[in-house]
Amino acid sequence: MQRIHDIYRPAEERKTDWREVERSLSDEELKEQTSRCMNCGQPFCHAYGCPLGNLVPDQNRAVAQGDWKRAYDLLTVNSDFPEFTSRICPALCEASCVHGLDEEAVMIRQSEKRIIETAFERGWVVPRPPERENGKSAAVIGAGPAGLSAAVTLRRRGWAVTVYERRAQIGGLLRYGIPCFKLDKALIDRRRKILESEGIKFVTDCEVGRDVSAEWLEKEHDAVVVAIGTPAARDLKIPGRELEGIHLALELLEGQNRFLTGELPEPPISAKGRDVLVIGGGDTGSDCVGTAIRHGAKSVTQIEIMPKPPEERDASTPWPLWPYMLRTSSSHKEGCIRRWNLNSLRFVGDGRVAGVEVETVKWEFSPEGRPAKFAAVPGTKETIKADLVLLAMGFTGVPADLPLVAQLGLKETPRTALLPDPARNIFCVGDCASGASLVVRALASGKALPLD
Ligand SMILES: Cc1cc2nc3c(=O)[nH]c(=O)nc-3n(C[C@H](O)[C@H](O)[C@H](O)COP(=O)(O)OP(=O)(O)OC[C@H]3O[C@@H](n4cnc5c(N)ncnc54)[C@H](O)[C@@H]3O)c2cc1C
Repeated sequence: MQRIHDIYRPAEERKTDWREVERSLSDEELKEQTSRCMNCGQPFCHAYGCPLGNLVPDQNRAVAQGDWKRAYDLLTVNSDFPEFTSRICPALCEASCVHGLDEEAVMIRQSEKRIIETAFERGWVVPRPPERENGKSAAVIGAGPAGLSAAVTLRRRGWAVTVYERRAQIGGLLRYGIPCFKLDKALIDRRRKILESEGIKFVTDCEVGRDVSAEWLEKEHDAVVVAIGTPAARDLKIPGRELEGIHLALELLEGQNRFLTGELPEPPISAKGRDVLVIGGGDTGSDCVGTAIRHGAKSVTQIEIMPKPPEERDASTPWPLWPYMLRTSSSHKEGCIRRWNLNSLRFVGDGRVAGVEVETVKWEFSPEGRPAKFAAVPGTKETIKADLVLLAMGFTGVPADLPLVAQLGLKETPRTALLPDPARNIFCVGDCASGASLVVRALASGKALPLD
């Protein structure tokens, strides 16, 4: 029996709506898929791949036996938000699945989705307030996955927890970055009700450092957990950047999500009828591709300065490492031109952007086989036509002049990640402590707080 590859709704159907792109696998399909798990003596999925250490082989066995309650109990030993990770995690567990060595990995992520959704349907997901209060209080700053994970972890240990969030709604990039077609925002609202029933308080529309001071929070609480993500996106300051129609990726993605969930009357940026160019070949860029396609863009092109990764796992990342290889998302399959080895030189246009001048680059590779240094290839300049440009080139960390950082007197690493101050019971979790990463790592970081 093989892994199922057909996990998406048909492209022609899904690109006309904003519903989640993945189809639901049936219980029978998942029972079969989980029965492929070999219950390895040394389960790399659990011990190496999953940052949360999910008990994957045991869960798989429970699903294969049709014991969904046991599967749910096992899943939630380490995972507090499986409804999120089971939709948007790149599944580090699957990259380290032993089955992947000779065949294809077990479908761990999809089985987790069915486990948690079955648990919600059958009423097993109930608030788990602490058995006793410990008399201490904590402020969590930021309600993204790291902050939510920290809040749950502390609450279970008996802390009184208040989460301060500058946005109108909780979820961080789960709500304001990741498109609705990957993660339905109603799932965040569903989880919020449970968290509130467990006693976690949310203060939204409250930017710490501006609406309340971080010094005040430190005085009010026994511990402060900073979970503010990486607020600064990398810009592309080349000539013509001031032209109209050039936006950071999150301006498009956030605006669209806020529109779809009723926070805005219409999306602030529309790709309808436009030639869209996404600069940056990663996941954020791919989310822009899917969003532009759903807006009705005339054409969508995604370019990347790095070389095209190999189609299969590269020798520089042998199993069980996360493989360096080409990734093609459901959005790419909806209709997009992808190009690599292109450096952007300047935006051209008159008032509004009309195109981007690019030049082909040639890469030199390190002895390990990874791209190390590039040089322009003479005579390869060309202009790609685009009247909407989206910059999806990653994040630059936490700006040191952020009021909150200054008020708490926090230090930063050379790569602008925040350092904790454990002597004052100030901790930093998630992307702000690690640099831009993944939801599952943010959750694991919030869960690993060294506070009893
Ligand atoms: C477009 C996009 C798509 C992505 N897709 C995926 C994916 O498919 N899978 C995956 O695993 N990862 C994905 N990621 C990465 C993932 O979203 C992040 O790694 C994760 O959200 C980090 O969690 P966090 O809680 O540290 O930060 P965030 O999610 O950024 O949350 C930080 C929160 O802090 C709040 N905040 C900031 N400053 C203050 C303040 N002063 N006062 C109060 N609140 C404040 C913010 O408003 C925000 O709610 C994606 C990222 C982007 C940008």
